[in-house]
Amino acid sequence: LRTDSIHPALRFFQKYKIKGFLSDEEGLALYNSTRDVAHIGPCLEVGSYCGRSSVFLGLGCQSKNTTLYAVDHHRGSEEHQPGELYHDAELFDHELQCMDSFPVFRRTLQLAKLEDTVVPIVAPSKLVARDWQTPLSLVFIDGGHSPSMSMEDCRVWSEKIAVGGLLMIHDIFEDERAGGQGPYQAMQAVLNNGRFAWEEKIQSLGVLRRLPEG
Ligand code: MG
Repeated sequence: LRTDSIHPALRFFQKYKIKGFLSDEEGLALYNSTRDVAHIGPCLEVGSYCGRSSVFLGLGCQSKNTTLYAVDHHRGSEEHQPGELYHDAELFDHELQCMDSFPVFRRTLQLAKLEDTVVPIVAPSKLVARDWQTPLSLVFIDGGHSPSMSMEDCRVWSEKIAVGGLLMIHDIFEDERAGGQGPYQAMQAVLNNGRFAWEEKIQSLGVLRRLPEG
């Protein structure tokens, strides 16, 4: 098997197993999108978990000399908590009785040689957004998936995206039998306010583009 023709992100995931719920095709779309809009400004993601999406976004940013801000409180979303569908006991701190994905995330960044590109921000997304001023070229939303959390993340972070920039939302399911409706409803709300245009969908990854003012 020739490895020099394989995409650097896929080569990395062949070598290191990183927990996560993003497909290769969705990841490659993140990588390509960061490169397309990198001239506009830095990128930001909400919901890094163990760093799977951060590697795709981060390698794209690194290739264009821009920065990825990776926001996650690292205490797990609703679905990661004990007893929930996506709970992972390896990420549970028994002494503190809470989830902690940050050590694994940090390890991923070092293994992927992305510590010169990715800035981890260990805090709730809402708190980070409160003072955020820098216009962003791309925001990837994959944090809490409940209707209220999805809505809040999409609302606050879509306002920080520069004209021409992209809002990319994971886990978009039109049909409720395929998955939870939080991210889909949040995406619809952003489209309804008229400042973004529908761009495309790659598997469950919805892509919107910020329109010029007026
Ligand atoms: Mg997701």
